[in-house]
Amino acid sequence: MPQTSYGILADCKQASATMRALVFRGPNQIKVETVPMPRAGHGDAVIKITLTTICGTDLHILKGEYPVKAGLIIGHEPVGVIHELGQGVDGYKIGDRVLVGAITPCGQCNFCLSGNWSQCGGAIGGWKFGNTIPGAQAEYLLVPNAQANLAKIPDELSDEQVLLLADIASTGISAVESADLQIGDSVAVFAQGPIGLCATAGAKLKGASLIVGVESDPVRMEMSKRMGADIVLDFTQGDVISQIKGLTRNRGVDVAIEALGTQPTFENALRVLRPGGTLSSLGVYSGKLSVPLEPFAAGLGDHKIVTTLCPGGKERMRRLIELVRHGRLDLTPLLTHTFSLEQIAEAYRVFGERRSGVLKVAIRP
Ligand SMILES: [Zn+2]
Ligand SMILES: [Zn+2]
Repeated sequence: MPQTSYGILADCKQASATMRALVFRGPNQIKVETVPMPRAGHGDAVIKITLTTICGTDLHILKGEYPVKAGLIIGHEPVGVIHELGQGVDGYKIGDRVLVGAITPCGQCNFCLSGNWSQCGGAIGGWKFGNTIPGAQAEYLLVPNAQANLAKIPDELSDEQVLLLADIASTGISAVESADLQIGDSVAVFAQGPIGLCATAGAKLKGASLIVGVESDPVRMEMSKRMGADIVLDFTQGDVISQIKGLTRNRGVDVAIEALGTQPTFENALRVLRPGGTLSSLGVYSGKLSVPLEPFAAGLGDHKIVTTLCPGGKERMRRLIELVRHGRLDLTPLLTHTFSLEQIAEAYRVFGERRSGVLKVAIRP
């Protein structure tokens, strides 16, 4: 990074600047601490976080199931105001309200230029916040490759209206995009957590004829209908495979979405799929995943299995913001609880233990 005299002066001035942030110290150890504020280098921006949230992936990090370095600030869903702009970032000014995707592609590497934005620089490389660089559960956040990643928020939209676009909406909606869902297709969505609910909303947006949600939690079953499901089946109350087959006159669904990341949901998604249909997988699996051969027609059924990591970048965010702005997508019902940054450990507990009907928690630094 070129060090200009202005940069050195600014460094001196802000050398002692600190902020509050949630720091991961090891499995089951998180704490709000005072840490140095980030500074914007060439091509970067620093935003003051006005609203963020906790993701299921953060719970995996907390439990030590997804490894990140001790000392890292976690979180990857930022809404904020531009606080500092590095050199080479054009078209923005201090004070602009922005949404930044959970995935921040550089927009310049071979993976990005092949259209695999989420795999920027290599496998899962687009996911940087709270994974390989400091994350969003903090007062300030450094946004790398700011030119590709700052999406301006229209004045008429609140932070709450756009917050969930950063990750769960982009991920959930991508399930039907990756499956190339056609108007009139039938869809089954396995699991109606935050991402599954957004997949349901995506199926409705893209013109599915029948959307079946599969879930057992009553709060989530109710929300599934609100997000666009025609029918929600409780897998603890019957055989959902034969029920879904029945609903499609034994044909099977055109698209089955897996939104949990377990062997049973993956298998069930395959079992309800028509020959030639697409299993669109969003879940994060651990251990080993196997494909049962009978519903896979021994490999001869022309089934397609596609996976998607949350699409990011400012153009993706702009498109999702437009859906909200024009009244086609409203995710604010999913924001069931609000906490301050200082209370975030409690927010993790409520979210992690699924207390009091929680779906997503808003964190306001
Ligand atoms: Zn996430
Ligand atoms: Zn890249």
